[in-house]
Amino acid sequence: MSGPRHYCGVVGINAGHNVVADLQKALMIIQHRGQDSAGVSVFDGNVINTVKDAGLVQIALPKERIENIQGQVGIGHVRYATTGGKGAMNAQPMTMTTVFGMIALAHNGDLTNYQKLKTVYMGQGAVFQTDSDTELIINLLSRRMGQDQDPVKAIKAVMSEIDGAYALALMINGRLFGIRDPLGIRPLIIGKLDDGYMICSESSAVYSLGGEIVRDVMPGEVVEITQDSFKSYAPTTRCAYAHCFFEWVYFARPDSIIDGCEVYNVRKNIGRVLAREHPADVDLVMPIPDSGRAHAIGFSIESGIPYEEGFMKNRFADRTFIMPDQATREKAVSNKMIPIKSTVDGKRILIIDDSIVRGTTLKKLVHMLRDAGAKEVHVRVGSPPIIAPCFYGIDMKNREQFIANKHTVDEIREIIGADSLGYISIEGVIEAIGLSGSDLCLACVNAKYPTKIEGEEHRYQTRLTDLK
Ligand code: AMP
Repeated sequence: MSGPRHYCGVVGINAGHNVVADLQKALMIIQHRGQDSAGVSVFDGNVINTVKDAGLVQIALPKERIENIQGQVGIGHVRYATTGGKGAMNAQPMTMTTVFGMIALAHNGDLTNYQKLKTVYMGQGAVFQTDSDTELIINLLSRRMGQDQDPVKAIKAVMSEIDGAYALALMINGRLFGIRDPLGIRPLIIGKLDDGYMICSESSAVYSLGGEIVRDVMPGEVVEITQDSFKSYAPTTRCAYAHCFFEWVYFARPDSIIDGCEVYNVRKNIGRVLAREHPADVDLVMPIPDSGRAHAIGFSIESGIPYEEGFMKNRFADRTFIMPDQATREKAVSNKMIPIKSTVDGKRILIIDDSIVRGTTLKKLVHMLRDAGAKEVHVRVGSPPIIAPCFYGIDMKNREQFIANKHTVDEIREIIGADSLGYISIEGVIEAIGLSGSDLCLACVNAKYPTKIEGEEHRYQTRLTDLK
């Protein structure tokens, strides 16, 4: 699959006041979902105006630019570029002017039949300016709106064509919609504000605006968000869900509640399960900040082993995960994390990270702890071994990248230089989340995909057309 992958966050607000500042604030709360570009689009009663640019929210949306636009209904987006370039060109919301007005769209997820559909529509004369599946969705919507003149009918028709993961904030002129793919792979939640309603990738943004959570958008559901309420256009049959388990393990904020399960609590449960599945005789438990923190607290509570902070993270360091080669990534890890010598020196330490992908981070950190005087370093991991690519919007693209594909657990222990290594089991992570395993997407750890992907095993195929 080519094209920019969307490892992103979306928001949409309809309220009785100018929502630009609230959109900006919500985007800052979900900034962890994307740091490469940010944007907002608002409807001023006549047209949709957009401000978007490369960079963090505060840089992409400076005061002097956003005070020039206003509207009581709007959407916003933060983007995490993985392929397809970082710049302003790929920033969202994406907008299009059509015969019936303007469309603005913010997308989190990846369409799995993007290339196929694009080829078909290009064959019929459609023109595409980017490699983005968001443009394809807008294009399809515009065509359908031309045929049906009815936004909801058009959205449903597009949903029955596209496959994969999508959580969308969509504006058609001044009408605001939230849309979640039929499997609910990526999160989307509805919130109530003092004088309006909103949708967002994560509930923490609802709280930050003084609002209350109403409920998650259901898989396959379209909700129209108005100032006074919201209207649901849901599929009549419940389909099998496939919520991405990695949202809880790593991606989402700890204070967010996704599909009824609080991320912090799930991470703590993961630590507890790890303490039962892989106990250790050590002096202290230490997190790899920030994502391993709640995991380590859970391990400490369950095992009774003291919890200590032994790494300080430089918050302003660059992202190591997407750096081009191993040497650069390893160097960047040591710029990012510094051990606290007094915590570590002479101790038997257990560290917990949320996941191992290539093994770069842990290899470097274990060595740094030994250099800082640690007597033993034991490693526990909050996700089962990652063995298969994600086609639904998390940046884990090819099998060669995964250390667990080439090595046994003991070999990985040896490579990262740990005294012991234990991954949580698949059953363990399901128990920690508390949903049924059949309602989770675990494809990156069990290689069974919830939708049909060429050359891969799939456990079920749900298209909207199957749900009648
Ligand atoms: P690695 O160093 O390649 O083993 O990557 C694992 C580390 O990167 C862990 O500390 C995770 O917190 C983080 N991580 C895991 N998956 C991703 C991802 N898709 N994008 C960015 N960081 C990630």
